[in-house]
Amino acid sequence: MINDFVSGALGSERALRIIDPLRELLRRAREGRIPVIYISDAHLPEVDREFELWPSHALEGSWGAEVIEELRPEAGDYHLNKRRYSAFYATGLDLLLRELGVDTVILTGLVTNICIQHTAADAFFRGYKVVIPRDCVEAPTQEEQEAALRYMERVYGAKVVSSKEVVTALQ
Ligand code: ZN
Repeated sequence: MINDFVSGALGSERALRIIDPLRELLRRAREGRIPVIYISDAHLPEVDREFELWPSHALEGSWGAEVIEELRPEAGDYHLNKRRYSAFYATGLDLLLRELGVDTVILTGLVTNICIQHTAADAFFRGYKVVIPRDCVEAPTQEEQEAALRYMERVYGAKVVSSKEVVTALQ
């Protein structure tokens, strides 16, 4: 949930909808001592392959690559950067999850049919269970949102639920 995906270079109105449920979910996770890990897009200029396909976005160190004001990381959260769609690719996330003794990941943020979907794939390949609160992820269109959620359910066994169900399960 960085500026460029919400109100910047690749921003969309749809991204705004998930801010409130996500803030509440993060609050409950921190309260329940569930580790909160931010993995932000942070690209290098010129070399990054994503720029063959997408307009420039999320340049490392820029405003566009900062987490939005409403969801700023707090003390005790972890924060990693990524340069590819998957949050597992060359980020150290797998090592961190193993150090934390994690067996289930709850994926949130943007965007459902790209970064979330690739992260779900890599989580599944590495043996993690995947939970996706559907009101805490968004895609550019409703069709893409629904197709990606269905795909992750069918292919990675992801549990697609509401954030309220996640909060209830955490209690
Ligand atoms: Zn990117």
